[in-house]
Amino acid sequence: MSSVLNTYNRKKISFKKGKGCYLYSSKGKKYLDFVQGIAVNSLGHSNDYLNKAINKQSKKLWHVSNVFIIPEQEKLAKRLTQKTFADYVVFQNSGAEATEAAIKIARRYFYSKGQPKKNRILCINKSFHGRTLATIFASNSKKMMEGFYPKVDGFDHFNFGDHKGLEKKITKKTAAIMVETIMGEGGIKVIPDFCLRHLRKLCNKKKILLILDEVQCGIGRTGKFFAYEHAKIKPDIVPIAKGIGGGFPIGACLMTKKVASGMTPGSHGTTFGGNPLAMSVGNAVLDVIFKKGFLRNVQQTSKYFHNELQNLKKKYPKVILEVRGMGLLLGLKISKDQNKFINKLLENKLLAVRAAENVIRLLPPLNVKKKNIDEAVAILNKVCKTYK
Ligand SMILES: *Cc1c(COP(=O)(O)O)cnc(C)c1O
Repeated sequence: MSSVLNTYNRKKISFKKGKGCYLYSSKGKKYLDFVQGIAVNSLGHSNDYLNKAINKQSKKLWHVSNVFIIPEQEKLAKRLTQKTFADYVVFQNSGAEATEAAIKIARRYFYSKGQPKKNRILCINKSFHGRTLATIFASNSKKMMEGFYPKVDGFDHFNFGDHKGLEKKITKKTAAIMVETIMGEGGIKVIPDFCLRHLRKLCNKKKILLILDEVQCGIGRTGKFFAYEHAKIKPDIVPIAKGIGGGFPIGACLMTKKVASGMTPGSHGTTFGGNPLAMSVGNAVLDVIFKKGFLRNVQQTSKYFHNELQNLKKKYPKVILEVRGMGLLLGLKISKDQNKFINKLLENKLLAVRAAENVIRLLPPLNVKKKNIDEAVAILNKVCKTYK
């Protein structure tokens, strides 16, 4: 019997090593991994360049407190601001911590401007911002909140796509709108560019902040560094995590200078966040992602994958109802039992993960090769065929 708390319906499989797109099970079987730790291993398993960076840093210095200057942290923050809308970055250890920091920063901004009652955050129903007390009530998903009341107050909600409902929900107390640029757990639902531009305009008009949660869709996943860049808008606050660490736990929250003005010494803190070991990996991930042509390559491979999935949908319209997503954050909405479908893929050595709305999520590493995609499509084809 396992001593690990039973909070997942775990598949009865474990792995002893990984390389690039592949995972090798304890029983010696090879799997094509299109889960990649749920968009975490952005450069695949056991990436040589990341291995080198972490090994080098591990011999020098692992951890020092944030009461000292950490040069690797300064460097990563500088690079993140130079490439984005942001002027400041605060480092954390996970996505939930990063979104919580975003909430704190938004509230603190209005507090520091003498409007402490302007503290409510408007979010999408059944979104996903993490599993801490505040973020489950921000997400407003019944399954995640059940048994964890009293409710953490301060969040209001609107439905995905409901523009009119959204405007009505904005009150004098609203400080910010917080949405995932692409809803990952929620079923790979992309907020269209025109809606993002509308959100930006609405926030400007109402003088509130726009928080875009890019924990899953950021760091090159859509073929641009951030997913919101496709809409040519600028948010005020952006929490990130997953892909930035390439497998090492890193979270961060990016913000503008205006918003940062509320955060003063003592207003926030973390013991582990931004330590030299983590930052050396984060910098190595950016070395690769910022390399000329890397993101263009993500766009090209994702276009190829997307087309192949559309072809599958045409071939099996009764199994695949919809191809969702952008870049290498893709999903198939299927008509069949989700768990059985994923198990069939697993039997054929392809790893995929569920999302809401009966979606099968496909998250290859950003440096996935065309031949790996062909392999995945062949397995998907084989599994779809079994429903004929
Ligand atoms: C995964 C995720 C989180 C939470 O990240 P953790 O590291 O699991 O805390 C928050 N927001 C989004 C959009 C995510 O996909």
